[in-house]
Amino acid sequence: MKKIIVAVDGFSSCGKSTMAKELACETGYIYVDTGAMYRAVSLFCIRKGLMSDTEMNEQAIGAELTTMLLEFRTNESGKSEIYLNGENVESSIRTLEVANGASRVSTLGVVRRELVRQQQLMGLNKGIVMDGRDIGTVVFPQAELKIFLTASPEIRAKRRMDEMKAKGEAVDYESVLANVKERDDRDVNRTESPLRKADDAIEIDNSNLTRTEQQELLQKLFAEKTA
Ligand code: C5P
Repeated sequence: MKKIIVAVDGFSSCGKSTMAKELACETGYIYVDTGAMYRAVSLFCIRKGLMSDTEMNEQAIGAELTTMLLEFRTNESGKSEIYLNGENVESSIRTLEVANGASRVSTLGVVRRELVRQQQLMGLNKGIVMDGRDIGTVVFPQAELKIFLTASPEIRAKRRMDEMKAKGEAVDYESVLANVKERDDRDVNRTESPLRKADDAIEIDNSNLTRTEQQELLQKLFAEKTA
């Protein structure tokens, strides 16, 4: 069977990582969560004081990026986790503050160029499922299978809220929905690599699909492309 690159793009909280991770697990492909990379950059910038609630210093961030090492390592349960300069930051990057910072640092050309370079290296041997916002358009425009996943903002806010509740966090639907819309707006309207569906991507709206239905659809598309 030929090895391919699978690009999964879409809005935040669409279930891209669940979809991509399951496919990677079924096929033995490497899974790369590029959102985790932007989140790790956000955490790095927050910790170094390079970004406040209102400002970012693009030049200083660019200079400091050379001191930032990002790696994915697989833990004993087989889950891929992100490390920032040798520290496992997989759970530290999952806060709202870091997510908002990621949505802002990801508008900077200097950050995007560096992360895209690292992501392209990871895909040199194919056999990879990568999820993000610009995978099918910028990172791997040559990817054999491109998925563009969507769901309504209301459904995504509800899913995000359920996840946060499950972790014991206090949440309010209206503020989660406002945050989803704000991040969508930034992803779609930024100048650098805005989120958009690649012309050859297959759009899947999973608002009314079960996880099993979605996965069956993906397996079928994957089988067609690797046959
Ligand atoms: O997917 P996740 O929510 O973890 O991504 C965090 C942020 O990183 C997103 O809000 C998005 O703005 C940014 N991102 C990006 N390009 C990618 C992946 C994520 O701009 N390829």
